[in-house]
Amino acid sequence: MLTTVQFTCSDCAQTIEVNEEMRETILEAGCPVCTAAASDGDFEAEDGDGAVDGGSGGEASSGR
Ligand SMILES: [Zn+2]
Repeated sequence: MLTTVQFTCSDCAQTIEVNEEMRETILEAGCPVCTAAASDGDFEAEDGDGAVDGGSGGEASSGR
């Protein structure tokens, strides 16, 4: 099973789903969109109980 994490650039606010390999690349080379430096805190693990999509409300606070 591949571990997928969500990268949110703190500079351009782009959200990208990446795997372990991509994560390390971004940490080294920066955001693939704007090349801003990325830190470990910009990544969020996506596994859990499949509540990523929201639906039943709760923590979905993003505008779009
Ligand atoms: Zn960026």
